[in-house]
Amino acid sequence: METKKTRNTEKQNLVKDILSNTEHTMSAEDIMAAMPIKVNKTTIYRILDRFAEKGEVHFVTGKNGKAYYALCNNCGVSHNIHNHIHFECQRCKEVTCQPNTLHIPNLEGFTIQETQFLVIGICNKCK
Ligand SMILES: [Zn+2]
Ligand SMILES: [Zn+2]
Ligand SMILES: [Zn+2]
Repeated sequence: METKKTRNTEKQNLVKDILSNTEHTMSAEDIMAAMPIKVNKTTIYRILDRFAEKGEVHFVTGKNGKAYYALCNNCGVSHNIHNHIHFECQRCKEVTCQPNTLHIPNLEGFTIQETQFLVIGICNKCK
């Protein structure tokens, strides 16, 4: 039991390290490939879900339907509402968090629990 707990913490820390060392967002597959130890995809998703619940990680769904994850740095007061733009490059397929934020209108009678903003185009590196 004890060892399992330690190993889980170790895996969580590794995922966090990988995400903090990248300038763009990463899919669960990208993270799995970057892990120095063998971890299955289900475990990666479980770790990411837990981080997302705690407001430490957020994600955006790319054009291909995959979720791309990033560490929360300046995500604002409300952890669930990430009102910044994400840019997906059609050439290199990198999805990056952009500093630009959007104003989320108050939707009368609706409760907003999550926001995702994706802009698609060609990035600076691929121009
Ligand atoms: Zn965030
Ligand atoms: Zn690009
Ligand atoms: Zn972001």
